[in-house]
Amino acid sequence: MLQWRAMKHRMNQNDVLRRLPQERLSLLRELGNLADEGGVSLYLVGGVVRDLLLKRENWDLDLTVEGDGIAFAHLVADRYGAGLAVFERFTTARLTFPDGLKMDIATTRRESYAQPAVLPTVQPASIEEDLYRRDFTINAMAMQLNPGQFGRVLDAYGGQRDLRARTIRVLHAGSFQDDPTRIFRAIRFEQRFGFRLERTTFRLLAQAAATNFIQQLSGPRLQNEILLLFAEHDPVRAIARLAQLQLLRFLHRRLCYTKTVKRVVTAVPKALAWWAHRFQDSVIDRPIVYLMALSSESSPAVVAAMIRRLVLSREQAKNVSAGGRRVDRALKKLTNNATVRPSQVYRLLADLSDEALVVLLAKQVGMKHRVRLSLLKQHLAAYVKNRTIKTALTGRDLETMGLKPGPQYRTILGKLLDARIDGMITSEADERAFLQKRFGLVG
Ligand code: ATP
Ligand code: MG
Repeated sequence: MLQWRAMKHRMNQNDVLRRLPQERLSLLRELGNLADEGGVSLYLVGGVVRDLLLKRENWDLDLTVEGDGIAFAHLVADRYGAGLAVFERFTTARLTFPDGLKMDIATTRRESYAQPAVLPTVQPASIEEDLYRRDFTINAMAMQLNPGQFGRVLDAYGGQRDLRARTIRVLHAGSFQDDPTRIFRAIRFEQRFGFRLERTTFRLLAQAAATNFIQQLSGPRLQNEILLLFAEHDPVRAIARLAQLQLLRFLHRRLCYTKTVKRVVTAVPKALAWWAHRFQDSVIDRPIVYLMALSSESSPAVVAAMIRRLVLSREQAKNVSAGGRRVDRALKKLTNNATVRPSQVYRLLADLSDEALVVLLAKQVGMKHRVRLSLLKQHLAAYVKNRTIKTALTGRDLETMGLKPGPQYRTILGKLLDARIDGMITSEADERAFLQKRFGLVG
């Protein structure tokens, strides 16, 4: 009887792995066999186990080896002709299979934190210890892949219980201090799954947030957490949560979630949806849009300091710093006056990135003024169409016409482009006639 029960249990756990696409499942079986050959225990671990149990898609196959993970990764790479990158410091390796599939293989390890908020030192350890160093119980489960144990769930810390109870729970009281990125991770999972922070966990999180541990996080790590949070399907509630827990101060101490900011941030999903639907070729850096919306009412000095704190890339920094005044100026002109010429619209918007244009739209969406909103949408649509227009003549033609190169080139070609955009001229011949009439240039 007991044996039958155990068998039934095992079958159920196998069913969980069957939720993977067939070819992934076969690959995992093969890797399990390979692990037996190599004499090591192999596990699927972390987020993918959680998502399998939640029946959510997750294509990140994180594996961990009790034994030498890097040696096992070499074995897999040889067998499958996969590319291999090794990170000795963390005893992990990343495989890239010929079909493009990426897979991380780690060595089960324990971590010790010499100081809060800095990266830990690691030592090989058992799978149980490896699971204990993880952030939350729901992320601290493993599934064994060795043939005899295929699909066995390792859940020493109540991960399945917490999944059922829809709860985020840390494994020990020092967790948020050890690694303050977990504060942001907690919010990320809470909002993504609609889970709740368990009571003690919430208290520990609030305590850790009240200290300045987060300040000690390096810029790239803080940036990573913030942008991951803002890359979630619906970051608006996560941002409100950051504000509620007074975490925005770690981006900049004067960053405030005022009513106006809240209105803009809340309008971003609508603005993004309209943009994506209307301009399907435009690729938007969504997390940056949220960051711009969040800092859209801050002074340039605050925004600049926030950019430095987050060590944003040059491209992102350019975007975020352009989000403020220029957007407001353009918005004002475009919604106050119905008779701006297409070339004027072009001039107002040409310096703005698409991300800034989405923020501009979000600002108007948030104002709930239907007529102005539809006017703005018309302007945006016209602008995106017009911005591909080019003049037929170039600087070289001006040179041929005997004009000395200099700043006036910009002015003249600008006027030419304006006339094109406004539809006053439509051909190269028109352009030449325009230059002759306006600037006396012939050639
Ligand atoms: P996502 O679905 O967002 O990728 P995930 O749970 O897979 O979520 P990852 O950042 O991909 O998160 O990390 C994989 C696993 O590594 C986690 O499930 C968790 O077990 C562990 N982990 C990641 N970051 C931390 C951390 N800061 N502290 C402790 N454990 C962590
Ligand atoms: Mg993951």
